[in-house]
Amino acid sequence: MSRPPVRRDPLPGVLDPRGRTIGAEERAAVLRVLDSAVLCGTFGTETRALEDEAGALYRREAVACASGTAALHLAVAAVRPDPGTEIITTPISDFGTVAPILAQNAIPVFADVDPATGNLDPAAVEAAITRRTRAIIVVHLFGAPADVAALRAIADRHGLALIEDCAQAWLATTPDGEPLGRHGDIACLSLQQYKHITAGDGGLAITADPRLARRMRLFMDKGWDRSLGRVHLTFGLNYRMTELAAAVARAQLGKVAGVVGRRREQAVRLVAALSGLPGLGLPDPRGHAWWMFPFTVPELPGNRAWADGLAAEGIPALAGYLERPLYANPAIAEAPVYGGSRFPLDREYPAGLCPNAERLIGRTLVTLPWNEAYTDGDVDDIVHAMHRVHADVA
Ligand SMILES: *Cc1c(COP(=O)(O)O)cnc(C)c1O
Repeated sequence: MSRPPVRRDPLPGVLDPRGRTIGAEERAAVLRVLDSAVLCGTFGTETRALEDEAGALYRREAVACASGTAALHLAVAAVRPDPGTEIITTPISDFGTVAPILAQNAIPVFADVDPATGNLDPAAVEAAITRRTRAIIVVHLFGAPADVAALRAIADRHGLALIEDCAQAWLATTPDGEPLGRHGDIACLSLQQYKHITAGDGGLAITADPRLARRMRLFMDKGWDRSLGRVHLTFGLNYRMTELAAAVARAQLGKVAGVVGRRREQAVRLVAALSGLPGLGLPDPRGHAWWMFPFTVPELPGNRAWADGLAAEGIPALAGYLERPLYANPAIAEAPVYGGSRFPLDREYPAGLCPNAERLIGRTLVTLPWNEAYTDGDVDDIVHAMHRVHADVA
């Protein structure tokens, strides 16, 4: 076919200055830190200021650390699962959601997701609870609010901790407009390159509970309470954020409301422009922070035909977001975890474990990278390409 693609030049993306909000403020921030010669967060002012500013944004205490995965590790360690206890989470997320469970010698248990959104199904979570369950980690996938009110109620009923993974959900809210990140005992955010705002890498763990905050602060710095001398009170690692990352993160934090706001405006335009296409499942814009723009398609011809069709039109798209559910990765399905041992894993994670997640990944879910720099013209190109692919494959 010789039809020219809808789009020839690439859309702005996260590895492209046009698709990131890195500018004069970040440049000044880095130079300020370099000129101070204090680059380690323990001794400088930037990391502490970032914690204050992020804490004020969420009206919680914030602990800065090296990555979103580190923030989740702080959170899991702080809720103190005994070795061999279980933590329930979702099969559709970044591996950073599940790695900290293994690192604390707990067992990940995967509950199935809603077939439309890919977010945890509270009924499936409740059905997965056993006497060994210690916590639930919920992910707000793509920036869409998971049902945190229901999960909070389940956690309370069973005496479990609830951790919110907000790495894709900066400033997202429930459909009623309540900020996400305050339903969990702890919420975790990421500043990795692909997220709404970035310091390259970086993380924040936020909580209203001063005991959890203290445990996380200790875990972040080798269990060291520096006010007491050279004494290590608890097991911990070095997950400190550097002053360079913190200074950039502060400048980025000042831009996050604009980033999410622009993503929302353009995503709402796209939802409206696609609502007439039969067979598509479109996201609910209420509360959505639009890390990506997800939608579902009929099983036939399926998500790979859609992603290929969009790519041929010059619009990047991912079929299924992941290649496989988290539990089907060799790291969980078959490989040793420590030495030659599979400990703490004590079970199989067979295909078919979470059918809704497997159908989304394998057949029905398509995600479009989303970006605050998209113009009306960019969105019009996406609409045009979506209509073309719909006509070709539907
Ligand atoms: C990115 C991400 C993480 C991990 O964050 P890093 O900063 O890359 O370690 C965890 N959970 C989710 C949902 C993510 O999107």
